[in-house]
Amino acid sequence: MTNLIGLSQEELQKIAEDLGEPKFRADQIYKWIYGHRVDEIDEMNNVSKKFRQKLKLEYKLDHIKVLKVLKDNNDDTHKFLLSLDDDNIIECVLMKYTYGFTLCISTQIGCKMGCKFCASTIDGIVRNLSSGEMIDQILVIENYLNIRVSNIVLMGSGEPLDNYDEVLKFVYNVNNPNGVGLGKRHITLSTCGIVPKIYELADENLQINLSCSLHAPNNSIRNKMMPINKKYPIEELIEACKYYVNKTGRRVTFEYAMISGTNDSLDCAKELEFKLRDIICLINLIPINEIKESSFIKSEKDNIIKFSKYLNTVGIQTTIRRELGSSINAACGQLRRDILNNPER
Ligand code: SF4
Repeated sequence: MTNLIGLSQEELQKIAEDLGEPKFRADQIYKWIYGHRVDEIDEMNNVSKKFRQKLKLEYKLDHIKVLKVLKDNNDDTHKFLLSLDDDNIIECVLMKYTYGFTLCISTQIGCKMGCKFCASTIDGIVRNLSSGEMIDQILVIENYLNIRVSNIVLMGSGEPLDNYDEVLKFVYNVNNPNGVGLGKRHITLSTCGIVPKIYELADENLQINLSCSLHAPNNSIRNKMMPINKKYPIEELIEACKYYVNKTGRRVTFEYAMISGTNDSLDCAKELEFKLRDIICLINLIPINEIKESSFIKSEKDNIIKFSKYLNTVGIQTTIRRELGSSINAACGQLRRDILNNPER
């Protein structure tokens, strides 16, 4: 049976037509799924009983299940472990800011990109998530806490540009005003730097925010942290980001995990200045989330402030990310790994 969750309005219109119903019936169903968020096809009470019966023969409405929720009482960050139809487990994180809730969702189960600081990649990739499994992370968490999220970041487990078609379908679906209705400027896609796909995304002219995991000012440091850099070196990545900025008019954010003794010296800041001086960007400095499988250690707070001040002085805007959810293993992939390795927890 096909799950209705994840289908686009056009796909539902085709289903309605195939079942001998007018197109507007599909629009009603679309609103029931993504607007009213019903759990059962029979709750769609402005759709005729006959059509609901026909639908139920071939389609189902199955949400992913909440397995576990951890809450950091210091900052209200929630971490969710979710169970999929095939019993795979994914995680997503909800963060509370003054302007609303931001949900960080996963796009793959595991990841094959091999970034040395990331728990999501340690066991490799299991499979891509479907667009339905992505959008359902929003529906399920919003229902669970009775909230509405104002921003989505594709920054959980997985590399979104390695699951390009489903991610694109997700973005269009989430943006549809008849459903979730989240503006494209409230959606951020974070990539480790798959250069050809950045060009492709720019040409879609989607107006979503692009965030790029840079984490180093040169190839020699970045090669040690992120295997993708050997395929697409830093210069090619920055060129692709410039193309994105020119094509969309959107500023790019570079994520930069501050690692003691690795990438946090003033010389590194100067190299960054040289590399990024002619691109409209923001650098988000992140005290790295330490994981036991990696020897990387978080930079001292003073060092992060000095690094930030230097870049700000030379005209490159920076922010220092607040450390949210530190008491609940909120870094990408940590909790899922803990549970898989120790299911009794
Ligand atoms: S940081 Fe992102 S791209 Fe890199 S391994 Fe982790 S999930 Fe994959």
